[in-house]
Amino acid sequence: MFALNLRGYAISPTFNRTFIRTMASARRSAYETIPSSPIRVMRTVEAVRRWRKPQYLDHRIVGLVPTMGALHEGHLSLIRAAARETHHVVVSIYVNPAQFGIKEDLASYPVTWDEDCKVLANLDRELADDGGNLGRISAVFAPTTSEMYPSGFPGQEVDSKGSFVVMTPISELLEGGTRPTFFRGVATVCLKLFNIVQPEKVYFGQKDVQQSVIIRKLVRDFTLPIDVVIGSTVRDSDGLALSSRNVYLGERRRKVATTLYHALKAAESQYLKGALDRESILKAAKTVTTDVLNQQLSLAPEERVRYEVDYISLADPLSMEEMSVVDPKQGGVLSGAIKMLPVESAQPGEDLGSNDGPAVRLIDNIILKPSSGI
Ligand code: AMP
Repeated sequence: MFALNLRGYAISPTFNRTFIRTMASARRSAYETIPSSPIRVMRTVEAVRRWRKPQYLDHRIVGLVPTMGALHEGHLSLIRAAARETHHVVVSIYVNPAQFGIKEDLASYPVTWDEDCKVLANLDRELADDGGNLGRISAVFAPTTSEMYPSGFPGQEVDSKGSFVVMTPISELLEGGTRPTFFRGVATVCLKLFNIVQPEKVYFGQKDVQQSVIIRKLVRDFTLPIDVVIGSTVRDSDGLALSSRNVYLGERRRKVATTLYHALKAAESQYLKGALDRESILKAAKTVTTDVLNQQLSLAPEERVRYEVDYISLADPLSMEEMSVVDPKQGGVLSGAIKMLPVESAQPGEDLGSNDGPAVRLIDNIILKPSSGI
């Protein structure tokens, strides 16, 4: 059988098959994909816009999961949540220099693109096999800094001039106390990502609780048409919250790294027992951090681990301002940060962690839920 082409000329089946294959391969190679997957890799704003437009017209819901890469189960839990609720999941992978202070670990932040691609390809297959999902991972947005900052990157200094989203006083509290440019960088890059991808839903982790409060506020204060979904913190079996920075810990510090979690749990148990005042709740956490440190300091330098507690906080869940008493109708947020110092007297062959185990700042939090008896 001979088919007719558009002009009515007869074309052979061989030509037809070749033509179809060529067109399909041209379509495939028109954009980059993650190897062994249909996931598009988009590197420019223009590419995202081109991809995004038909999704509107088709009434497809887009979910965005912003990340800095070095993907772990915490990130994957957010992608799974997004796939359950949206037709197209976009994962952004961008290490945003604006949220790193000049003395912070931007240069050594783990960049694991090839590994991340494998993880996403595997996860996408898992999502495809699970009939409970609305969508899959449609695309990864991995822009360059010049793409994200079209007028030029403004710099990482506190007094850098440029176009920023500044949210005070919340960005000055807690994490913002030691990292004055952090939330300015986060809010700025998230607004950019939201404007580029135009998602209906965005997914953030509870692990970074102050960030999640800031994102909710960003959406509310700038009236963005976006639903913010917060996924619960994914932890290792001993309670340590997963973090891309855990690779720096090494074996010795990894064992002690759960101290912050244990301290927050101790404080939570005071609240669950009925304590509402700041002093009783936080005292329980401080007892844990002090006792563990004293225990460590009693060991020999080649065995011990030292850390500095940056803060342990009991804050209002909406403003992140410190609270003197928890209103049980509203609950609160227990959060903390500790800096694990590099190990002393490293032993030959000791696993110090990536980059020879620099100081690692760990953060964690527990939500004190409103009490149901009220
Ligand atoms: P990051 O790549 O560290 O910027 O994190 C990207 C997103 O993953 C943020 O919304 C984080 O809050 C979230 N995230 C990071 N670690 C965890 C975790 N252990 N559990 C749940 N979400 C997480």
